[in-house]
This record gives sequence, C-alpha cells and structure tokens, in this order.
Amino acid sequence: MIDYSGLRNKMVDEQIIKKGIKDERVINAMRKIPRHLFVNEALAHRAYGDYPLPIIESQTISQPYMVGFMTEMLDTAKTHKILEIGTGSGYQTVILAELADKVYTIERYNTLVVKAREIFNKLNYNNIVMKTGDGSLGWKEFAPFDRIIVTAGAPVIPEKLINQLNPNGKMIIPVGDYHLQKLMFIEKNDEKISIKELSGCMFVPLVGKYGWNQ
Ligand code: SAH
Repeated sequence: MIDYSGLRNKMVDEQIIKKGIKDERVINAMRKIPRHLFVNEALAHRAYGDYPLPIIESQTISQPYMVGFMTEMLDTAKTHKILEIGTGSGYQTVILAELADKVYTIERYNTLVVKAREIFNKLNYNNIVMKTGDGSLGWKEFAPFDRIIVTAGAPVIPEKLINQLNPNGKMIIPVGDYHLQKLMFIEKNDEKISIKELSGCMFVPLVGKYGWNQ
C-alpha cells in the first residue's frame, strides 16, 4: 500500500495553511482524512493536488482549499448537528463528521451514496446518516440543524434550508448561474438573518425542486 501521508501533509501546508486557513481543528482533520480513498484508484496519486477531480456520474470532488475554506466558515463544534447537501465523494462529509456530533447528508445519485457509505464504514464513521434524494428540500425529520453546507451551485438560496437552520445557525452555499457562483454565507442571530457574499466559485449544479431543473 502506498503511503500518502507525505503528500497529504504537503497539501495541508501549501494549499490550506499557506492560503490562510487558521482553524486548527480543520487543519488537523485535513491532515488526518485519507483523501485518496475518495477518488478512483487511477486518480489516487492526484488526490492531494490543488484542484477538483472528477468522480462518477460526471460530478466532482471539491478542491482541498474549498473544503478547508467552507469548513472553517461553518465554525463547527463537537456538539453540532450538520446538514450537508451533495455528498458526492463523501470527503467533505467525513471532514465534518470529525468535527461535529452528527452529519446528515443527502445525495441525488444512489451510486454515489453506495460508494460513500462503503468508505464511511471502512473508516469507522458511525455519526453519518445518509439518504438518496433531493437535498434542495432539506431534511425535515431531523431539522433544525446547527449548520448547513451545500456543495452544489444553486440558482437562489432555497428557503426551506433557511427554515431548517436553527435560530443561531450558519449556512454556506454557492449561488449564481449554472456554471459560476458566489459563496453565500448565511447567519441567523436569534432568528435574524444576515447574508454575506464571499468569494467566487465553480460547483456542479444543484438539481432539484429548489435548484435547477437538470
Ligand atoms: N462535497 C462533494 C461535492 C460533490 S459535487 C465532494 O467534494 O465530493 C456535488 C454533488 O451534489 C454531486 O454529487 C451531485 O450529484 C449532488 N447534487 C446535486 N444536486 C443535488 C440535490 N438536489 N440533492 C442532493 N445532491 C445533489
């Protein structure tokens, strides 16, 4: 078996810390999680590069820096219940599972859900609950959530998601057109909502009732 810890530490030093991520909890989680397991074996040697990579169903695993940045913005605590929309490879899911109490994650493609579940089991994460479905609706049964992260680009912020955020919750979501978006950061302070626009980004589309048609 190839030892990827050298490449992984290099990724964290050069792409995460050097680019401004400061949260030690995020940094440590990224040093720990074997990112190469979340891509096809043929791409494993590129898993620690500074770019997104293709996964099945024409989807992508996000660039490491994007995962670090979004996770830092979420400001998670070990007590938190988190909703993630767009499980994809499951890499971001496991980073969150490291940092929070429980992660609820929704993915459109059952093929991706099956693959991700295998990895979660292999790595012994018992605090991830998943389902195949349309995450633009949120997950009412388990709401409200302390934090919500959407890792697919939406045309607008789905109102259902804001409703499922707890009264002091935070949410991060890419919003824009089909190919190009801006990361939006939503904070509730005693139910009062504020929305901040962060950096530009490129995510695959959020396809669903409160997302794109396809
Ligand atoms: N965080 C993931 C990102 C995967 S790409 C990773 O780094 O691996 C975004 C994912 O969102 C894709 O797998 C896509 O199938 C999924 N997706 C798109 N629309 C969705 C929806 N309405 N509900 C759930 N998942 C959705």
